[in-house]
Amino acid sequence: MRAGANPDVRRMVEREKENIQRITEPFRKGFKTSRECIGALLAVLSLRQRYFALVGEHFSVFDFDGITAMDQLDEAVLLGAQEVLKGRPEYAGDEEAEKELAEAFANIPPIPQHPVGYMVLFQVRRIFEGFDVFIQEGDSPEDEKRVERHEHAFLKRVALLVDAFATARKTPITRHFGDMAREYSVVSRLHCRCGQPKYEVKMQSLITEKSGEHLDRLDVKCGACGDTQALEFPLPFFNDLSIA
Ligand SMILES: [Zn+2]
Repeated sequence: MRAGANPDVRRMVEREKENIQRITEPFRKGFKTSRECIGALLAVLSLRQRYFALVGEHFSVFDFDGITAMDQLDEAVLLGAQEVLKGRPEYAGDEEAEKELAEAFANIPPIPQHPVGYMVLFQVRRIFEGFDVFIQEGDSPEDEKRVERHEHAFLKRVALLVDAFATARKTPITRHFGDMAREYSVVSRLHCRCGQPKYEVKMQSLITEKSGEHLDRLDVKCGACGDTQALEFPLPFFNDLSIA
């Protein structure tokens, strides 16, 4: 199986990407308040529930096509979130508020260096949840001025995380390393038809096709029923390594 080869997956991913753009478009004009921006951000991020359900309906979120479709859509939703965040109000910086948030979020573990989209999305959700707790359990949850100051600082934090991912995905070299890191993450999410929620990687090989295209191939085996799969991941940015 080759990532991106199934035309049904490609069509669905294209359609859902268009939907993400359509929802994001009106938010590009910017926001007067951080609260409006947070609301728009939630609207865009919540699109994941829609495509998660669609992918599960047509493929499976545990098979190769479903997992690779989710990864593409997670990336698209994060790029949409980046557009929304670009429209947040001017923020001069507020060291005190940023420090308080850093302390409130100190227990959130960092994400890997080359994260897959869903890892960033889960991290954004943790920050959102942490922010809710911070506001509700803070000294003065009714103090509008205080809440507003922290909303600015909160958005800055989310924007840093999303920008780092978006920049890495738009830069060929970091994109290549991200693609490589993702392969094992795909295997870790793959379930066998026999019900076993785990495959083992038996062999990894780098293949150069006659056309000159590179791809990584992972031969995986189910420990329970012995089913084997050859998973191929095109590496379109492989040649960019030579200019690194
Ligand atoms: Zn099996």
